[in-house]
Order: sequence, then structure tokens, then C-alpha cells
Amino acid sequence: MSLFPCSSCRERQPGKYSNVTIAWWPEGSQQRKAYRLKLCQTCYMSVLWPLHTGSWDGFSLTCPSCGIGTSENMLPTFLTAFLPGYGKVALEMPMCPKDADSLRAFATAGGELLPDRVGGQDPDSGPQQGKEAAPQWASLGITPREVR
Ligand SMILES: [Zn+2]
Ligand SMILES: [Zn+2]
Repeated sequence: MSLFPCSSCRERQPGKYSNVTIAWWPEGSQQRKAYRLKLCQTCYMSVLWPLHTGSWDGFSLTCPSCGIGTSENMLPTFLTAFLPGYGKVALEMPMCPKDADSLRAFATAGGELLPDRVGGQDPDSGPQQGKEAAPQWASLGITPREVR
């Protein structure tokens, strides 16, 4: 049994958890929101696994969740996950607003808000605990892909 409850179902589950980060830029904001979750296999499989094993090819402007075209109306959402025995998953998902909202709600409901990873040149640009975040991430094996 794991020592910690799963971020989603809140149960202590057998086996190693996946380390998941779900991130996005709120509309009109330069401040990224990123939530970290530790998910048991069941929760990962039911919510996130279909996003990278479904029909989405990884780059088309279609929603990975429902498959509709999102070139005109998308809410990009970023998933980084490290799955025991599988490896790293890093996705930049052009999600439709409806599915982006539900994935973001999933992240905020169970996840822990991470301090934004900023350059640190401006003391007003991020929370003070930003400096401590990097080694923590590195120890989890997560190296978020920089986008744009
Ligand atoms: Zn769970
Ligand atoms: Zn969708």
C-alpha cells in the first residue's frame, strides 16, 4: 500500500502512483497555473490515459478528449506525467473549452498548486517559494517542456 492517498479518489492504493502535472495559462494571464497530482493507476487510467492513447495524433488541432476541431476555439492544456513502468508523457493538448474545463476542474479539485517557475529576476513576478520548487520537480523526474 502507498503511504499517501491518491490525489483524486483519496484512497490508499497498492502500487506506485503516477506523478502528474496539469498546467495552463488562464485566459489573459501571463501567470501559469500548474497543479501536481499523485494518482493511483485506476484514476490515471480512467481520466488521463485516454488522452494519449485515443485517436488524437499528438499535434492536430482537435480536442484529444472528444475529437472535435479546436482550431477556432481552444484552451491549450499541458499534461506532464511520469508513470511507473511506462515512462514520461508530455502533451500539449488543444482542448475544446468544455473538456479543458473539466480537466482543469479535475486538477484543481485534487491537485496541489505549484509555484510558477519563473526566472526570478523580478521579485513581484512569482511567489517566494518558487526557488524551492525546482529541485522538488527534478526529484520527481518531471522536466516540464517549455512552450513558446
Ligand atoms: Zn485514485
Ligand atoms: Zn473536447
